[in-house]
Amino acid sequence: MPRKNNRKDNDTGLDEEKARRGVERVVSTPDGQWLLRNIPVTGAVKTYRCPGCDHEIGPGVAHVVAWPADERGDLADRRHWHTACWNSRDRRRPRR
Ligand SMILES: [Zn+2]
Repeated sequence: MPRKNNRKDNDTGLDEEKARRGVERVVSTPDGQWLLRNIPVTGAVKTYRCPGCDHEIGPGVAHVVAWPADERGDLADRRHWHTACWNSRDRRRPRR
């Protein structure tokens, strides 16, 4: 009996495994693919340092978490960014 692969290609590019890890989006940038997750106000309970501006992200601040997709989404590599810093990340980089 042939095995049927029912996995759908959904438009977010997420597979089930990533979804289980809390990945909400996959973005492609000049330096590779990133997995992204939005942290809502209620989910922000610690203080993180944003690599975009080198300032702290305090508790209660909605932000995003990004980690490189090519490291198998290793959670140890997650970076917490201010949403605005993440969004302006591309703009700051030289584009060709
Ligand atoms: Zn920042």
